[in-house]
Amino acid sequence: MDAVDALGEIAFWLERDLAPSFKVQAFRKAAVVIAGLGADELAERAANGDLKRMKGIGGRTFEVITQSIGGQVPDYLENLRQKGVAALASGGSELLAALRGDLHSHSEWSDGTTSIELMVDGARMLGREYLALTDHSPSLRVANGLSAERLADQLDVVARINGDVDGIRLCGVRLLRGIEVDILESGDLDQSSEMLDRLDVVVASVHSKLRADADTMTRRMLAGINDRHTNVLGHCTGRLVQGSRGTRPQSEFDAERVFAACAEQGVAVEINSRPERQDPPEELIAVALEAGCLFSIDSDAHAPGQLDFLQYGAERAAKNGVPADRIVTTWPLERLLEWSHAPR
Ligand SMILES: [Zn+2]
Ligand SMILES: [Zn+2]
Repeated sequence: MDAVDALGEIAFWLERDLAPSFKVQAFRKAAVVIAGLGADELAERAANGDLKRMKGIGGRTFEVITQSIGGQVPDYLENLRQKGVAALASGGSELLAALRGDLHSHSEWSDGTTSIELMVDGARMLGREYLALTDHSPSLRVANGLSAERLADQLDVVARINGDVDGIRLCGVRLLRGIEVDILESGDLDQSSEMLDRLDVVVASVHSKLRADADTMTRRMLAGINDRHTNVLGHCTGRLVQGSRGTRPQSEFDAERVFAACAEQGVAVEINSRPERQDPPEELIAVALEAGCLFSIDSDAHAPGQLDFLQYGAERAAKNGVPADRIVTTWPLERLLEWSHAPR
């Protein structure tokens, strides 16, 4: 087995399981270290023990590499594969099978943990037809949000990955140009109109002042939704229900007005699949359904393995009776782009 692949797949399974970042990074880093060596050199360094002394290689990663070189599936990986056979969620499998893509993901350009290429690899492994790369906008400094300049650079990378530049399609997944743009306190979107016009998908989210009173929050959200660039309203309540960051109550807003605006503008309400978010709460999914909204089941993955979180989102959507045809991520790429680029 290829040692780089083995290390990458181990990281994937650990990310899917929300393992601590340092544990995952040991495998991701080791993969980078040995990717720079030729097969012969790697084998030689493994045989004479040199590899063990290289920076970024530890006891466990050494074992994985040597077992891979020896032609076997490393024990550590085999174990994870066996555990990974079990689905993450117990319901929603039919809806999950109908999902074609994912409109919310992050790379190391903002606060994700890996390269864009590795995110695309993960999406391909999971059989996605399209994935929107939606790194953060400038105001979210803690997440290394992208300035207009960096976003422009990123769009060049996306074009290369899609093969739009040299004509060679590197992947079976269409990588969509996207952003998770902050809805600022003023209600404005945190990126220039000119840059937003260049994107395929705009996810607009509130990330600050989540405890504002309902009037203030409603006004802010309505302004974000009514912006002609917005396609998806990201994790609308901002709540956290579990996980390492602790819990956070849902923000307060006039859900009927907010979802009526989404329905009117053709903005999809995100069903955020992250286990610590589970956003919107069930009662709000019901309000959005009643309002006639579209939905987008998104992973909000910050690492390749987390792309599989769509299982959780599909389970929640199915449980709450969201029809597949109202979920934009079940749509073929062409229909999706027609919707996201529709003039408003
Ligand atoms: Zn967000
Ligand atoms: Zn996000």
